Amino acid sequence: QPVIEIKNLTKTYELGGETIHALEDVSLHINDGDFISIIGPSGSGKSTFMNMIGCLDKPDSGEYLIEGKNVAKMNDNELATIRNVKIGFIFQNFNLLNKLTALENVELPLIYRGLSAKDRKEKALSCLKLVGLEDRWGHLPTQLSGGQQQRVAIARALAGDPTVLLADEPTGALDSKTSNDVLQLLKQLNEKGHIIVLITHDLEVAKQAKRIVRIHDGQLYENGGDWFEPNRI
Ligand code: ADP
Ligand code: ADP
Repeated sequence: QPVIEIKNLTKTYELGGETIHALEDVSLHINDGDFISIIGPSGSGKSTFMNMIGCLDKPDSGEYLIEGKNVAKMNDNELATIRNVKIGFIFQNFNLLNKLTALENVELPLIYRGLSAKDRKEKALSCLKLVGLEDRWGHLPTQLSGGQQQRVAIARALAGDPTVLLADEPTGALDSKTSNDVLQLLKQLNEKGHIIVLITHDLEVAKQAKRIVRIHDGQLYENGGDWFEPNRI
């Protein structure tokens, strides 16, 4: 039984009388232990697909089951709940709150879960430890490097024990050395059992995953043909 089961998912947008098929009959299984990258150029449907996987938006048709729950049939409230419980988001620009310390940022998803202050702090510190930043718990984001900020964001994503970590161009704002460190961290987390879905337009980044899925004109292709050639991506 896959952890995530996406079947014949379709999403269209209406724009000035024109119908845009952002996702066309897309199917994908994500299993325990997976580290999967979704790669495609601008306009290929990555954001739309991420919005689906991340329970930020609903498909027009098709099925999306996460741990057996059908997201495609949920109302907005149910969608928000499932998103908070099942998905740990990692963004290109970290999305940390600059007035809060590293520790307080990591505690945020735990407030939603109703943990006591003591348990929140304990859990947040353990997540900062996982990303190698426990000694920076009292720093503000502005007192940390880009790579460190992304580590804090990864700790925040981990804090709620999500089913899947969903990383949208997580290295897009980082230099190549720091990018590599962040990718190594994601690999380590995957080895510890975290499912990771990484969305990128960068083949070198995508290659760090165990599975690479290409998205092109709203359709998915896995490990097929000669599409690893950079000029075709
Ligand atoms: P990305 O950086 O992932 O390539 P995009 O530029 O494709 O982002 O899209 C950014 C946001 O704008 C997305 O959330 C998407 O839903 C929205 N968007 C993209 N294209 C259009 C469009 N043609 N009309 C309206 N909104 C769009
Ligand atoms: P990517 O993230 O790969 O750049 P998107 O998922 O943002 O791709 O876009 C896929 C297609 O859907 C593009 O043609 C884009 O212009 C269109 N699109 C995305 N969001 C919207 C929107 N909110 N309204 C209209 N068209 C959109």
